[in-house]
Amino acid sequence: MKRAILFNKPYIPQMGEEYVLDALRSGRHCGNYDWNQKCISFMKKKYGFGEVFMVPSGTDALEMGVMLAGISNGDEVILPSYTFSSTATAVILHGGVPIFCEIDPKTLNLDREKLEALISPKTKMIIPIDYGGNSCEVNEIMKIAERNNIIVMIDCAQSLNSKDQMDNWCGSISPLAAFSFHETKNFSCGEGGALVVNNPDWVRRAHFLQEKGTDRRLVLDGVQSKYGWVDKGSSYLLSDILAALLYSQFEKMDEIQYYRSIVTKAYNMLLEPFAKKKHITIPSASLTKNSNNHAYWCILDTSKNRKKFLSDLKTIFQINAYIGYVPLHSFKKGIELGYKPEDLPITEDIASRVVRLPIYPDLGMNSNDLEYVVESIRTVLNDIYL
Ligand SMILES: *Cc1c(COP(=O)(O)O)cnc(C)c1O
Repeated sequence: MKRAILFNKPYIPQMGEEYVLDALRSGRHCGNYDWNQKCISFMKKKYGFGEVFMVPSGTDALEMGVMLAGISNGDEVILPSYTFSSTATAVILHGGVPIFCEIDPKTLNLDREKLEALISPKTKMIIPIDYGGNSCEVNEIMKIAERNNIIVMIDCAQSLNSKDQMDNWCGSISPLAAFSFHETKNFSCGEGGALVVNNPDWVRRAHFLQEKGTDRRLVLDGVQSKYGWVDKGSSYLLSDILAALLYSQFEKMDEIQYYRSIVTKAYNMLLEPFAKKKHITIPSASLTKNSNNHAYWCILDTSKNRKKFLSDLKTIFQINAYIGYVPLHSFKKGIELGYKPEDLPITEDIASRVVRLPIYPDLGMNSNDLEYVVESIRTVLNDIYL
């Protein structure tokens, strides 16, 4: 039996096509029209976010956040090396200097115990991520940041609808949070994102940055009759056609999350015996109890076994599983910043052994496919470890 199993597949709710057609026929295709407003209202009501800006990508949300925080030449921004390039690119775009922090091997999130040692008089911002949809230790990180007068933006690209350790929704307590609605995320519209601004003092300027540096928002609000050029910025607006697709997924959020959770449970059951024998490390129940099940990751004992695991799954069973991130500090740009791979030994080691397994709602809905994936993984692991 040969069937290719994808790593990820976006979920298209039944109403998706209808909503997109409605947006198309409305003739109002640019940003901040009805479907965008629906997405904004949904998030503000459900998560208690201060203000929400719908933007064309998670990367744009990060850029806008860095600009709002006023990062400029030589300002230091602490972030994990174990993240997507966007987190660091947003920083260097405005002259900021990324300072890479180690991750906690149990969570793959920024290790807050290693955070304070990296803070210098030049530190202006910290950008932790919520890897795999599991919240970073945002409450502890915020305390450290407040003590040192540092702005926190969480890269929540993967964590919409997850909660942190104190039961707050991800993105609701830091001054800034950046979400992604890229095709690969739980809730998606091809390309899209949102910047959450919880600090009310920054909302007015965020409108200017989103609207190419103009104060057009003040005209829309009836405050003045003409708009002018008042700030820097870019065109950070999500098309209403895409927002319509996104909203159809927001309506099916519980369903999407439920089907992803079925996949998570199946992998946990499969891998627990291997974890007991210390061949594999799996995410702890305490880490994932409030998670949106964005990703399923596990850590194999050696990078050699990881290589065999991924290649056997692909060549024998046509199953697409992947490595996680290649640490940013060890890439060309990281080296240019003065880093050597061995500067972050924990990140390097973990990154060489992480595996991410296929997870998407269709896989949870289709028990034949899920069983095929589980049995194939079991066969490969038995071959490696028995
Ligand atoms: C996906 C992702 C991004 C980028 O989001 P885009 O919408 O693709 O620009 C940034 N950071 C993290 C942690 C991500 O997972």
